[in-house]
Amino acid sequence: MHRAALLALSCMLAAPFSGLAFERSDGTTVHCEVTRDGESRVVREVWLGHGDVGDRHPALGGAAAVVRPGADGWPVIFFDSVVFRAMLASDPHMSDFIFYHECAHAQDPKRDEIEANCEAYLELDKLGVLTPERLDALASTHKKMLRLPSRYGGSGEIFWERTLSCVKSRRDIGLR
Ligand SMILES: [Zn+2]
Repeated sequence: MHRAALLALSCMLAAPFSGLAFERSDGTTVHCEVTRDGESRVVREVWLGHGDVGDRHPALGGAAAVVRPGADGWPVIFFDSVVFRAMLASDPHMSDFIFYHECAHAQDPKRDEIEANCEAYLELDKLGVLTPERLDALASTHKKMLRLPSRYGGSGEIFWERTLSCVKSRRDIGLR
């Protein structure tokens, strides 16, 4: 084996689930960038859990992904790889949406769940990938979540409704 390949392999083994890029369902590699006090950094991503379905990582508290400050104080996105693997098979549009949702939290920790969803919607729309079919799929995936914590509005139906009204008000004031 090539020395460089060996080195790459040993790096992968040392940190098997950590990276700086996210692969969207259309195969495009994207990353989340945050800026603080004039300094920009790409947000580190950590993938947790690699067992069977049901092996949810306790650090995520049942969420598919969360943002937490890393040791250096900069945000890190933690993903549940078991949940994402299943999601990519059934609702690939949702994994993209969650990436942009978490990135919105990372870029501004003050954003609540509705605002993070709102940003994800606006970002995907700006990228031109929100086709009517995609929007229908996103709406129905949200509505399948019958019960959610109150910070999400209590149910997926209300969560999506509030997301749409946030998008509408952002457009009304001409932000995008
Ligand atoms: Zn969130």
